Amino acid sequence: MNDNIILPLQKWLLTHEKCIGCGRKLALNGHKDNKGNRIAVCECKKMFVWVERTGSYRKVLNIEA
Ligand SMILES: [Zn+2]
Repeated sequence: MNDNIILPLQKWLLTHEKCIGCGRKLALNGHKDNKGNRIAVCECKKMFVWVERTGSYRKVLNIEA
């Protein structure tokens, strides 16, 4: 598969509050990043940040974590 297929799938998963790695439902917990954004940490250890403006999650880059 190429990015043209993978990226829309990842976006769909994130807007449905699902982990792009394992498909589990994401839940916000107590974590916050250095900008005060709320973080969800999946059971598979992937981290996502909740973006209020877009109403979806996005991947957390390692540099932010
Ligand atoms: Zn996961």
